[in-house]
Amino acid sequence: MAEPEIDPLPILRAPDARLKSKTRRVRPDDLAEIRAVLPRMMAAMYAAPGIGLAAPQVGLNLRFAVIDLMPDDKPAPITLINPAVEQVSETLTTREEGCLSLPGHYAGVTRPERVVVSYEDLDGRKQTIEADGLLATCLQHEIDHLDGILFVDHLSALKRNMIMRKMAKENRLRKAG
Ligand code: ZN
Repeated sequence: MAEPEIDPLPILRAPDARLKSKTRRVRPDDLAEIRAVLPRMMAAMYAAPGIGLAAPQVGLNLRFAVIDLMPDDKPAPITLINPAVEQVSETLTTREEGCLSLPGHYAGVTRPERVVVSYEDLDGRKQTIEADGLLATCLQHEIDHLDGILFVDHLSALKRNMIMRKMAKENRLRKAG
């Protein structure tokens, strides 16, 4: 039998005020709501396709995000609740980033190469991830979202404005179409 279809949540496109606000911390009594919304949030991430999606991108003002780098091409989602960057390496690295809220736009962003991130899992247990490479970039990108920061905010004003102007134009065309 086919599995029931999960209706993916719509992903907000920049510019949108909800992408620019700092989220509030998740409390234990929020966990039921998060569990209920997660399948639709993950469906949106996989459909895009993307490797991370933060709550503000689906209009939720809560400090959590999901990531899945699909190691071995199999789903392995991690739900990060109240994540925080605890340690960063002095070594920086520049990696091309994109964002499901700025689809089709990419730019090199310079960030610490390695990070230690603390978070809570869906059972409220404290967890720690030590990461480098793509995972380190992804973790920092998603935690930025929870503070109302987009990857373009790390770019020069010139590059940021160029991308945001294109987004505004694309948004107008979408509304007109
Ligand atoms: Zn993003």
